[in-house]
Amino acid sequence: MTNRDLLSIAHEFGSPVYVYDASKMASQYKRLTQAFEKVAKVRINYAVKALSNLSVLKFLHSLGAGMDTVSIQEVKLGLEAGVPPSHIIYTPNGVSLEEIEKAVTLGVQINIDNLSILEQFGTLHPKIPVCIRINPHVMAGGNTNISVGHIDSKFGISIHQMPHIKRIVENTGMNINGIHMHTGSDILDVDVFLYASEILFEAAKHFNDLEFIDFGSGFKVPYRPGDVETNVEEFGEKLSKRFNTFCENYGKQLTLAFEPGKFLVSEAGKFLVKVNVVKQTTSTVFAQVDSGFNHLIRPMLYGSQHDIHNISNPDGKERFYSVVGYICETDTFANNRRIKEIREGDILAFHNAGAYCFTMSSNYNSRYRPAEVLWHQDKAHLIRKREIFEDLVRNQIKVDL
Ligand SMILES: *Cc1c(COP(=O)(O)O)cnc(C)c1O
Repeated sequence: MTNRDLLSIAHEFGSPVYVYDASKMASQYKRLTQAFEKVAKVRINYAVKALSNLSVLKFLHSLGAGMDTVSIQEVKLGLEAGVPPSHIIYTPNGVSLEEIEKAVTLGVQINIDNLSILEQFGTLHPKIPVCIRINPHVMAGGNTNISVGHIDSKFGISIHQMPHIKRIVENTGMNINGIHMHTGSDILDVDVFLYASEILFEAAKHFNDLEFIDFGSGFKVPYRPGDVETNVEEFGEKLSKRFNTFCENYGKQLTLAFEPGKFLVSEAGKFLVKVNVVKQTTSTVFAQVDSGFNHLIRPMLYGSQHDIHNISNPDGKERFYSVVGYICETDTFANNRRIKEIREGDILAFHNAGAYCFTMSSNYNSRYRPAEVLWHQDKAHLIRKREIFEDLVRNQIKVDL
């Protein structure tokens, strides 16, 4: 996707618009599977919540990916995209027993993350195979917002509760076919991941009928030049070796599973916005764009640093800007950022806009959610229309008072 391609997409479909490059998703998928090519059975379940457009799900499934889902609605999206239920794992947390039973009727793999539901489910449905989500209590990354394996986390069943898990499994006679962990979103250090994996291997030894071990995700991708990213190749080599040894000792070839979201789609995405106003103040120059945290909230929610490029003026002189939105709220995308000279009407491209961008968008300020475009084999395919006024009022009821 060149700057010219992006500009023509902004011209054709308007702004703001999300654009996803299929070839980047494919190369990331290939990179991950190649890193684990020494393991006989590998399953990559794409984390739907990162980017849940049906055409994206269809494309990733065509590469061989299954789906990792966290709500019954995501399960339905996966099925709607044509993914067979056997390739969908349902990994919710804190949902009702009824929702889990609904997922059972849709035929997908169930993953349970608390003892209460495990006991209730095992009592009612001892024959349905279940995966257990373990919390290994490994602190990954530095930001507690995105570390879900540590001691205070709400996710998973504590590894220290293994005796209780075993008692429930024995009492109910339920079938545990998988064991799972998802330690956090940003793993910088392969050894931290491997350390958590050892805890999962220990836990796995307690169950005789496993079919898979699911290592969740946590692959870190670069957002800015110089960012540290997970060394997937080194990780693949080390974990593959360890996994194969485990399977030998276990006496059965298990499937090694992952659930990457960000790794597969983050870098494939660009968010294109138009500069409405360039505003000089006494302290800075604001570039005000036709978007805000209603369309891209990660910088405000997590402090994420998305690279921003002025694709309308790639050869311009660099100047310092604060890039902000147009909603009535402080919605700063970037502070004091060096960007090629910005003129009103220019199109800016936010990088790493594939994961957790569109899926976190809202209608705040009664603005429309943007269009989405999939770039595939040098062609732009509209995969979601921009909203219109009817979308804002569709479910509202004007009562006579
Ligand atoms: C969000 C999530 C993932 C994906 O995490 P990424 O950091 O996007 O790769 C995987 N597994 C579970 C259970 C999740 O909730």
